[in-house]
Formats: sequence, C-alpha cells, structure tokens
Amino acid sequence: MAGLLFGTGGIPHSSETKSTIGGIQRIAELGLGCMEIEFVQGVKMGEAGARLVAEAAAREGVKLSAHAPYFINLNAREPEKIRASQDRILQTARIGSICGVENIVFHAAFYLGDPPEEAYNTVKKYLEEVIRQLKQENNRVWIRPEITGKGSQFGTIDEVLRLSTELEGVAPCIDFAHWHARNGASNSYQEFASVLSMVKERLGKTALDNMHIHLSGIRYGTKGELSHLNLKESDLQYTELLRALKDYDAKGLIICESPSLEEDALLLQESYNALL
Ligand SMILES: [Zn+2]
Repeated sequence: MAGLLFGTGGIPHSSETKSTIGGIQRIAELGLGCMEIEFVQGVKMGEAGARLVAEAAAREGVKLSAHAPYFINLNAREPEKIRASQDRILQTARIGSICGVENIVFHAAFYLGDPPEEAYNTVKKYLEEVIRQLKQENNRVWIRPEITGKGSQFGTIDEVLRLSTELEGVAPCIDFAHWHARNGASNSYQEFASVLSMVKERLGKTALDNMHIHLSGIRYGTKGELSHLNLKESDLQYTELLRALKDYDAKGLIICESPSLEEDALLLQESYNALL
C-alpha cells in the first residue's frame, strides 16, 4: 500500500446523497483516500448493493473498510448473545468483503467485572470460532478488534496486540483517541512512538505497513471516553502523532471520527503531507 490514506468514519457530512456510494464519490471529490462503512446499527446492506459499492470504490480509487455493529460482546453471559455477536462480525466480514474491504473493525467485549485475563480467554475462544468459519468461507478480510476508550471495555493495547499474535487473520485497530481517553496519558510523541514500536516488536514490520487507525479529538473523564470532539477543540497532540507515524513509516488507513468528519480528515491529511 502506498503510504497513509486519510478518510472518514462514515459518509462525509457534505455528501449530497447520504448513501455509501454517494459517500465514496464525495471522498474522491474532497481528495481523501478512504472511508469506513459504518454498519454500527446493523448490517443492512445486501449482496447486490455491496457489489455496486465495490464498483464505485474501484472507479473512484477509494479504499474501504467496515465497522461492525456496536452490539457485540464476546464476553456476554448468555450463549445467545455470544452467538449474535459472532454473527454480527461474520455478517460484517461477508458483506464487507463483497464491498472490497480488507479490514473490518469491532469493539470486542465488556469485562462485566471479570478479571481481564479471564475475559481475554473468553474473547479469544469465541473469536477463534469466527476466524475458523471465515477461513472455511475463504474470506480473507483482516479482523480488527479496536482499542477501546473506557475502562469497562475489553480492548487495551496489550489485549488487542495479544489477540493479533495468537490468532491468524487478526490485526489491531489502533484508536489513539480511545487510548488517550483511558487515562489522559498517551498524548506525546514519545508515547505515540512507543505504541508503534510495540506494534513492530510484537507483530513485525509488516504490521506497520498495514495499519488501521481511528482518530478524533476526544472528551474524557475518570472512566474514560465521554464523546468525540473536533481535533482543534481537544487536547489531542495529533501533530506529534502524525510525526511519529511518519518517522515509523507507517502505512495503511487513518479513519477520522471527529464530529466534523471530513474537515478533520483533511486537516490530518494536510498536516501529514506538510511534514518533512
Ligand atoms: Zn469503533
């Protein structure tokens, strides 16, 4: 992949048609490089629609990824909730792969008071079943658990990297805003660089060539994430992060999730391109 591509989490607000295809066209007009399809309220796109999305993305030269529904908890108490969570990941991967996405992102679980190690083993076990099923279907999308923004949510950097080393086809979605929101730290060049060197150390240099990053400004409290903010209204040191990404020669997709979706995606892209 050629360098870093910048884009939006969902259809840009300035898109005239509020459809995935309209969004793809708007991304291309804006000069951005990628868009994440938000299946966050459910996968409602059919196969025929997904094929049209793939054609539009290829025509416009826009890379796509997909975000699975929010209602996923691989550490749920009820077997039917586990099954439904697995199905939501599978559905995202199936429709996503027809759309031409190479990466799907999801929030894996809540601890629900479990010791993290116990939750980890549960999440791993049920995710492994998903991976096995996708392999049978010859579906090659990367399954990316996201770094989450609240202490109650499974998804620390360590957990996500560990799943990525232990399960084939799993890679991290690094949400630097979420990571920062967990404790207010992780907001300097050195801290951003240490995340990237951890990725390199544990997953190899190829992981830096194939990154999936979420970014936005963020408001947070003692329990972590409260809401997303525009970059300039937040304390996130995004230029230092961009510097670290450049120094580590990271490649892949950066999905902007600020309220001002495309403005901040463009701000990130311009700031990155201005770095020497
Ligand atoms: Zn997310």
